[in-house]
Amino acid sequence: MGLNNKYDVIVIGSGPSGFTAAIRAIQLGAKVAIVEKSLIGGTCLNCGCLPTKFLWQALKLKRKIQKSYEYGFKVNLEPIVFSNILIKKDKNIINLRKGMKAILSSYNVDIIEGVASFMDKNNLIVSNNEGNNILEIFSDRIIIASGTSPSIMKGIEFDGNRIINSTNALNLKEIPKSMLVVGGGAIGIEMATIFSGFGCHVTLAENKNCLLPNEDREVSEEIKRNLIKQGVDILISCSDALNDIDKYEKVLIVTGRMPNNDLKLERAGIKTIGKGFVETNEFCQTNVSNIYAVGDIAGRSLLAYTAQSEGAIAAENAVKMNSISINNFVIPQVVFSMPPSSSVKVSNFLRCKNVIYGKFPFTASGRAFIENERSGFVKCAVDKTNKKPLAFWIVGAHSDELINVASQIIKSDICHMSRESVFHPSFSESLFNAYEDAFDKCVELTKKNKDLKL
Ligand SMILES: Cc1cc2nc3c(=O)[nH]c(=O)nc-3n(C[C@H](O)[C@H](O)[C@H](O)COP(=O)(O)OP(=O)(O)OC[C@H]3O[C@@H](n4cnc5c(N)ncnc54)[C@H](O)[C@@H]3O)c2cc1C
Repeated sequence: MGLNNKYDVIVIGSGPSGFTAAIRAIQLGAKVAIVEKSLIGGTCLNCGCLPTKFLWQALKLKRKIQKSYEYGFKVNLEPIVFSNILIKKDKNIINLRKGMKAILSSYNVDIIEGVASFMDKNNLIVSNNEGNNILEIFSDRIIIASGTSPSIMKGIEFDGNRIINSTNALNLKEIPKSMLVVGGGAIGIEMATIFSGFGCHVTLAENKNCLLPNEDREVSEEIKRNLIKQGVDILISCSDALNDIDKYEKVLIVTGRMPNNDLKLERAGIKTIGKGFVETNEFCQTNVSNIYAVGDIAGRSLLAYTAQSEGAIAAENAVKMNSISINNFVIPQVVFSMPPSSSVKVSNFLRCKNVIYGKFPFTASGRAFIENERSGFVKCAVDKTNKKPLAFWIVGAHSDELINVASQIIKSDICHMSRESVFHPSFSESLFNAYEDAFDKCVELTKKNKDLKL
């Protein structure tokens, strides 16, 4: 093997976790290669976060235009050509991908196109899509960042046309007349929102007894109410949705993700857990000490921002030898329903005692009034003893941005939220108002009967 094939760190996968790991490792002085079998940017850029949020944004814009008459505008919305929206989506994704490539090459990361698999704990084979070996590479440290793919469901075969997964759905050229969405988690809700918003008759089936089973019940009910208002049929506690698929033009299965672990992990002796996720410790290190695993493949939270955080941690640890551990104490969650919903809480929230709650509806917010976005609320949980905010749940316009503020408030562990530090009129004031309401001190709400309080 030539010297050129030897790296200090090799990263497998260029999604948020691999991309971050590669750049951070090079920032720390390592010679780095990234191996990617498909498109730079991984799931997040090509068939996850970005395309879904683009389509959601297009829907939001459509609604804004439709409601603009309330501000005195007269705008006629021509029939929407969905394929034009897709063209714009694809252009954006291509440009963002170019941006990522430019960053990688500005740092001189070697981008190797091909499928990586282990020969042993230091050597990798890279093969092309036909399975022919094209390169052998060697490294002291390897970071697996190979992500996940849509889960398959027993007894049903994806044909990519009528029975589809989230990746297929994001590339549909036309809005189908009807669609069954199987899975009431974040992705299912986002897909139901987008497709029904553009005119598809969507039925959303969830086999648990509510949407987003791990979310606060009030939030989950609000999302359900908004989806129903939007025209989505919702089937809760539904285990037999697939018995009736003939009546739908498309059937979208979004019941989970499975690890991309076809890397011949066994040749390096790497342990997996559960559905085949790579087992790691708090340093993102696998049971094989020179090999790390980050992002979705490690199965912790299946989110792009935790993936990025793990990528940076693994790179620091790989180059500097185990110095930083994961801090998963406060992780916000966002679902792009319409309006969006989000939440953040301290990790031990369920064990917290002496918790009081406050709530501020956007119908009472001046800014929400001005923006004509008065649906939803902020709910806040506070430790009554030391007044620390412990959790926020937000359903409403801009909740996807507000939650980052809430997240920082909780992470900073403060004991007091004060009004003078929050600009007026703003949506962020509502965080503060909900917090004050927990102590019955919100001056922007009518005096209420204590018995009715949350
Ligand atoms: C529809 C949808 C919407 C989402 N929306 C959000 C959102 O709004 N916010 C959010 O935080 N998260 C969202 N996610 C989740 C997010 O996309 C993932 O958590 C994130 O992409 C994980 O990053 P990763 O780097 O671990 O893996 P990935 O992004 O999956 O990247 C893994 C990369 O590794 C490559 N690879 C795999 N095996 C090999 C191999 N053997 N050799 C070479 N390369 C290989 C793959 O081709 C891929 O490019 C969404 C996911 C989906 C499906």
